[in-house]
Amino acid sequence: MKLSIQNITKTYANGVKAMHQISFDLTPGMFGLLGPNGAGKSSLMRTLATLQFPNEGQIFFNDLDIFKNKIVYRKQLGYLPQEFGVYPKESASGLLNYFAILKGIASKKDRAIIVDKVLEITNLQDAKHLRVSTFSGGMKQRFGIAQLLLNKPKVIIVDEPTAGLDPAERTRFLNVLRSIGSENIVLFSTHLVEDVRELCRDMAVINKGKLLAQVSPKAATEKLEGKVWETALSVEDLEAQKQQFTPLSNRYDDANRLITRFYSESHPSIACDAVQPKLEDFYFLTLKNV
Ligand code: ADP
Repeated sequence: MKLSIQNITKTYANGVKAMHQISFDLTPGMFGLLGPNGAGKSSLMRTLATLQFPNEGQIFFNDLDIFKNKIVYRKQLGYLPQEFGVYPKESASGLLNYFAILKGIASKKDRAIIVDKVLEITNLQDAKHLRVSTFSGGMKQRFGIAQLLLNKPKVIIVDEPTAGLDPAERTRFLNVLRSIGSENIVLFSTHLVEDVRELCRDMAVINKGKLLAQVSPKAATEKLEGKVWETALSVEDLEAQKQQFTPLSNRYDDANRLITRFYSESHPSIACDAVQPKLEDFYFLTLKNV
């Protein structure tokens, strides 16, 4: 099973180039689409959900051109947009039953089975009689996943699902995604490196509409072995050395000194320590190389 994105370009009517010749393949497993706000993540996801069309390029689900076979493809698709509708004062199980009718599951018995199953997968059994309008942010996101699972999609696309969730809700949500990610193609977007590090077998970094990297989180950090350093030198001293290295991030140490983390291929000629590379380092470096 494969979703193949080939040379997708999109320029909106206002002239914004939201995607520029984006190509990559998705296979079953968790795939993270990482990029800052405005990078083009939602544009790509709406395109993959066939809700908008590219100016150029094609997308194939196995051998199927998704834009020429929208109806067939959409039966295999589950899409959770960033803003997930309004929440009526209906119970979770009542609402899921209603969605199941809309999705064409005619038998009452079949609906009861699938509704039970998706409540179990999303860990919402205990809340099934509660009104969805009373749910917390994390429960609403899990409910969003429950409704998209009703027709057993093979391709699941989730736009920035962890935005605004507190840490406990975020973990619970990511665990739900993990549980559905083994057999299906699951693509989710985020601006949080931690989401990708914890969850994904593969990831892509996009910014300004361009695909900057596609790599596994493990390979990404391995690439940087021996090339990430930290120094407590003053900002002025660093400015003078700028040619030598690429600054990645800053932090304060226990003595309240500003520590700068930077990338350099070889050992720099300043006082510094080699440190263990992190996925954040790869992300910041990739964004700088535009
Ligand atoms: P992200 O999801 O990474 O934040 P988006 O895909 O939402 O990025 O946006 C990419 C760029 O396209 C941004 O500059 C945004 O303002 C612009 N954009 C998004 N949707 C539209 C639209 N419907 N019309 C015009 N510009 C848009």
